[in-house]
Amino acid sequence: MAGPYRIAIRGAGVTGLWQALTLARRGHSVIVVEQSAEPFTEACSPWAGAMLAPRCEEESAEPVVRELGMRGIQLWQAAYPDLVSAGSLVVAPARDRKLLDRFERMTQGGSRLDAEQLEQLEPGLSSRFDTALFYADEAHLDPSAALDFLLTEVRSAGAVVQFGVSDTPQGADFIVDCRGLGAQDMLPTLRGVRGERIVVRAPEIAFERPIRLLHPRFPLYLVPWGKDETGANVFMLGATSIEREDGGPITLRSALELLSAAFVLDPAFGEAEIVTLGAGVRPAFPDNRPRIITSSGYIFVNGLYRHGFLLSPVMAEMVAHYLETGITHPEVFIADFGQR
Ligand SMILES: Cc1cc2nc3c(=O)[nH]c(=O)nc-3n(C[C@H](O)[C@H](O)[C@H](O)COP(=O)(O)OP(=O)(O)OC[C@H]3O[C@@H](n4cnc5c(N)ncnc54)[C@H](O)[C@@H]3O)c2cc1C
Repeated sequence: MAGPYRIAIRGAGVTGLWQALTLARRGHSVIVVEQSAEPFTEACSPWAGAMLAPRCEEESAEPVVRELGMRGIQLWQAAYPDLVSAGSLVVAPARDRKLLDRFERMTQGGSRLDAEQLEQLEPGLSSRFDTALFYADEAHLDPSAALDFLLTEVRSAGAVVQFGVSDTPQGADFIVDCRGLGAQDMLPTLRGVRGERIVVRAPEIAFERPIRLLHPRFPLYLVPWGKDETGANVFMLGATSIEREDGGPITLRSALELLSAAFVLDPAFGEAEIVTLGAGVRPAFPDNRPRIITSSGYIFVNGLYRHGFLLSPVMAEMVAHYLETGITHPEVFIADFGQR
């Protein structure tokens, strides 16, 4: 294996765009085909947080997600000027302190802050929380802005992107299938996990980094997405994780839980304005691990679950490395198509 190759990529979500960018920049001839007529209208990707949180995610994910995710952050940092590298915070009300202790035990790289340190990092939070966990090397971004950026960069790197095309491309040396849930026709174990979220604008709240609020029943995370056109701060409040495949409207119960948790984090959210409510559906394999499945010229990259933004750059790097050298990552690659 060496190349350069003619590569066709199916699907222009965050996974497909990172594949296209990486492969085109490495000298391969790349075409991307996307079924939707308009960018990102049928993708899970715009629904993401999008936290790049390999350390916090280890509380519920396999160690491989942290290992790959740390590389994922480096690749975003090298490629995307608007990435915010401000770390992330985890807090819990005093009555749920055991949840914070458990979170600390289940993760690596977090440091305990006292109220004074918390006040310096996120002024205002220390009036409600007297301790927090801080993960300094995590990052976040606004997913819509990042997707627009990736699409522009993919084209600048020489790749052709066609919208409104769903057929399998012909004439390529390799097809990289990044169709997310659209690949269920060929990947029978792939499932969707519904994630509901609310976007609010809150002129009086000024958090600079993602904050997770631990709770026994409805944990919340909040991601700052910068300012809107009026100068008000915008936040994503998320997200549920429900074993259902429909991306329809958010339920009243989920909205109540997310909004109540936001109110616990900061009562000033009572004055926030709701911009959008909705749900995306995450593509996941039964063990929630990402996979690269190879089968004579056809390569699936899928199952990025809660970690599509975090992992898509490193999945692209691994596919490029595989095409150029034949080398595979033992925990991610599956060569036997029967195991898909
Ligand atoms: C509420 C929520 C919060 C999340 N938060 C985070 C987070 O904080 N951090 C993080 O890293 N991840 C997060 N995620 C997960 C992340 O959004 C997903 O892992 C990621 O978007 C999956 O991307 P994808 O490109 O694989 O799939 P998709 O974005 O679904 O893209 C697949 C594309 O393939 C296209 N397609 C389908 N069939 C065909 C066909 N036949 N031909 C051509 N094109 C086709 C689709 O139209 C679509 O555009 C979150 C997800 C949700 C729902």
